[in-house]
Amino acid sequence: MTSVIGNLQEVRSRIASACASAGRPVQAVTLLAVSKTQGAAAVREAVAAGQQAFGENYVQEALDKIAALADLRAQLQWHLIGPLQSNKTRVVAAAFDWVHSVDRLKIAQRLSEQRPPHLGPLQLCLQVNVSGEASKSGVAPADVPALAQAVATLPHVTLRGLMSIPEPVADPLAQRVPHRALRELLARLQAMGLALDTLSMGMSADLEAAVAEGSTMLRIGTAIFGARG
Ligand SMILES: *Cc1c(COP(=O)(O)O)cnc(C)c1O
Repeated sequence: MTSVIGNLQEVRSRIASACASAGRPVQAVTLLAVSKTQGAAAVREAVAAGQQAFGENYVQEALDKIAALADLRAQLQWHLIGPLQSNKTRVVAAAFDWVHSVDRLKIAQRLSEQRPPHLGPLQLCLQVNVSGEASKSGVAPADVPALAQAVATLPHVTLRGLMSIPEPVADPLAQRVPHRALRELLARLQAMGLALDTLSMGMSADLEAAVAEGSTMLRIGTAIFGARG
């Protein structure tokens, strides 16, 4: 039996300890509850426990869930953290608050063109491939500055920062290496004059390492909702 409320409390206390160890204020880190494969009832439980930001991977599943939770829409933030194909940008631009998985200019251009104006700008992160050969998704670090500059000029989206999904490793010090690389890349973009504030990095198994390296947004699934069936 998984208790979403109990798990959320435990995750929040892990985040608080990690922030204390890193000398960072706990408000500097936003918790995204990754609700992929979980039903609307589990999301409602998390909302009842004070959670407001949710991450989803699969567009159709997310649209169904967002519709089922329409009564809560005004108080929730929906983040797309999974791959986005160009034929889905229109529905995504209308339904989500954030997209973390932008990996090419064409996707960002379509999201900007298709964002309904009354919703205000869609918040974007570029997904960076920090693990090299080991991972196929995300932009190569060397290509990030040019892409970031181009995305930052688009009118109906706001580029907020970078996101990564490193290869899982068990060693806590090894976990910090790709997170550090993402932090240094963000600093480079900031030095170029881009006003960015978001490092979307850290999952259930490596949140402490991510907070130590400056994560501002943790994407936590299993530690909140239990193992995915
Ligand atoms: C599933 C997923 C997560 C959450 O992973 P957990 O290990 O369950 O915390 C975070 N980010 C992305 C992109 C995911 O697909």
